[in-house]
Amino acid sequence: MPTPEFEERSETNLATLRPKAQPHFRALLRALKTYALEKGLEVKIISANRTWAEQDALFAKGRTKPGPKVTNARGGQSNHNYQIAVDIGLFKDGKYLEESVHYSKLGPLGEALGLEWGGRWKDFPDTPHYQIKTGKRISVLRELVRTEGWDALDELIPDFSPAPEPTPAPTPTPTPAPVPSPVLEPDTVAIFLDRGEGAKKLSLDAWFSESRVWVAIRDWTDFFGGTLVEKNGKFSLLLSGQSTPIPTKIIAERTVAKFADINAVLSWDFSFDGATRPRKLTIHPDR
Ligand SMILES: [Zn+2]
Repeated sequence: MPTPEFEERSETNLATLRPKAQPHFRALLRALKTYALEKGLEVKIISANRTWAEQDALFAKGRTKPGPKVTNARGGQSNHNYQIAVDIGLFKDGKYLEESVHYSKLGPLGEALGLEWGGRWKDFPDTPHYQIKTGKRISVLRELVRTEGWDALDELIPDFSPAPEPTPAPTPTPTPAPVPSPVLEPDTVAIFLDRGEGAKKLSLDAWFSESRVWVAIRDWTDFFGGTLVEKNGKFSLLLSGQSTPIPTKIIAERTVAKFADINAVLSWDFSFDGATRPRKLTIHPDR
């Protein structure tokens, strides 16, 4: 047996409703529970279908029986007698709340689901009450069921259509991806130093971007010397008594400078092999 969605009292009451009406009230209870949970309350369907005799007994309350009046409807005069209405109850710490401001606050949630809420009734506001909107007076319902049977009543119950899935956060209008410029993705470059004894790989971080080789400048000065001077985010390379402004940018969280700019200070010969991966820059300082 499938696990019931709700606690026993609600499930038992739901089962007394027209099968076509049940999904409407399941949706109601779901919505109300979501609200109630935030307030630390529990909500149950405490009454649903009533036989005419049960309805008569309720009608007697406050009239021929003690207690306050609870209904203006006699047997056959309530939507509860047509299996299309429920009363909800709010509970706090397991205790039933006869009065709570939240009964009125919940009403619009039921109305949003297309149900009629008793809290709108002028002569006898009934805030815990919800019913299917049949658009018919109770006397018409009574006559309909009497002459044509329950199937005729079902015709008046709207088909249940589940609320649309919550709309996901609006996704930005898909803008066509920018045409990837071939230099957009920095590509690593391996740097070699060749002093005429065979090229030796250096541990310098370097990338190929914007058709240029960019070298992590601090790696560079650590290796080749020189002093890097930073002023207001601008770098200069102080080397051989010469200060040269070096434009920089950030790649992979490293401050990098164009190899060409650095090399302009040194005038070293170099060769670049862009076909290998990683791309390969070889410096020939002594050539
Ligand atoms: Zn009711």
